[in-house]
Amino acid sequence: MNHSHPELAEQFVKDAERTTWHDETLWFVRQKRDRSIYAIPEFQELRELASQIKNHTLSRLHTYLTQFEEAARANGVQVHWAANAEEHNAIVLNILRKHGAERIVKSKSMLTEECHLNPYLLQHGIQVVDTDLGERIIQFRNEPPSHVVLPAIHLKKEDVGETFHLHLGTLKGEKDPQTLTEAARLHLRTKFVSGQVAISGVNFAVAETGSVVVCTNEGNADLGVTLAKVHIACMGIEKLIPRLTDLGVFTRLLARSATGQPVTTYTSHYTKPGPGKEMHIVIVDNGRTKQLGRPDFRASLKCIRCGACMNTCPVYRRSGGHSYDFTIPGPIGAILSPNIDMHKHKSLPFASTLCGSCTDVCPVKIDIHTQLYKWRQVIGENNELPASKKWSMKLLSRVLSSPGVYGWGGKVARESLRLLPHGFTHAKALNPWAKAREMPAPPKQSFREWYEQQNSNGKA
Ligand code: SF4
Repeated sequence: MNHSHPELAEQFVKDAERTTWHDETLWFVRQKRDRSIYAIPEFQELRELASQIKNHTLSRLHTYLTQFEEAARANGVQVHWAANAEEHNAIVLNILRKHGAERIVKSKSMLTEECHLNPYLLQHGIQVVDTDLGERIIQFRNEPPSHVVLPAIHLKKEDVGETFHLHLGTLKGEKDPQTLTEAARLHLRTKFVSGQVAISGVNFAVAETGSVVVCTNEGNADLGVTLAKVHIACMGIEKLIPRLTDLGVFTRLLARSATGQPVTTYTSHYTKPGPGKEMHIVIVDNGRTKQLGRPDFRASLKCIRCGACMNTCPVYRRSGGHSYDFTIPGPIGAILSPNIDMHKHKSLPFASTLCGSCTDVCPVKIDIHTQLYKWRQVIGENNELPASKKWSMKLLSRVLSSPGVYGWGGKVARESLRLLPHGFTHAKALNPWAKAREMPAPPKQSFREWYEQQNSNGKA
């Protein structure tokens, strides 16, 4: 069912304690990011450089994709192209079938989430095990990730304890993170050993060398790829960087922006298949060239999925990732999602205060809040605004453009608020704004009246 962001957020904010905890936890990560970036004086230069490298790459994407494909093929890698999610899933299934594989291990990949690969493979009788700890937790719970870097950030350790009790047989009420992590490690080791094919995401694809780079903190991608006979790396076309020497700019920015670490624990380069093994790279478009063709929104393809814009966003922190109903939540998701389905995601560009904090923290300088504002115009022009918002905005613009009507309207509102019963002015059906807020007491006079009075008293 299609739910708007406010409707879904309402479910999340019902639990005030969880909302506060979610807000504080992500703010803690944002503060770690601040401390980490202030520790390197050249951080702003790095941001500028990263932004320019990405702008350059996007302006010549065809050239770099061709160069990347040629280099990868020369390394003995099999390269596949997918125009959309269906093609991507079919290519992956085809490779699995060719090898008779029934058990795969998968490290974190937002692209495979976007393509809904897990349910697709399950439907075709393939057992998929997500090996990133957070991903495994939400896989047990049959939930999508709620954050691009911290997929289970909406869960408390008590929730994880309950989940592991149900699926891994840990003691009921166990919530010690060390004990729970040990249980997950033991469980995952058996899956790694029996995995026939390893699927990984791609953080960066280097055109010059044809290699893909995967960054994880748990080393799970490395373990999966090393033990399995076949490695399938799935990447969006925007993951390219031109040269190996560009990589350091991004790895220095990625970990600092994401979690405040100086560097991600494991940064692994996969260039060619090991002896007797196969390596495949699936390069996916799925709406990206459409976004590339929209000049106002092209820069959103520079995203390196660090999650910093989510950690700083006051709306995301208080409404949770699931309320966005899109693979990538938060400010960047609110820019990417209308490109894929404007009707379904029309409420997301409005789920923002436009405070600009997302733009301030973005390591590749995406003008996120400007794009959110622009999407609002595009959504309006495409008649996707709810009738109530459309007419109320029209009415408001009339009122604000006429000082006489504005003054009269203010007077009527002040008087009405004084005379009408509280139950009427705060009725949820009539005034959704007052659902969680008390209306301010109406002032006795308008600012203009007060100012004139001060003037006549000689005070102004
Ligand atoms: S838009 Fe910028 S801040 Fe947000 S996830 Fe992407 S790179 Fe990070």
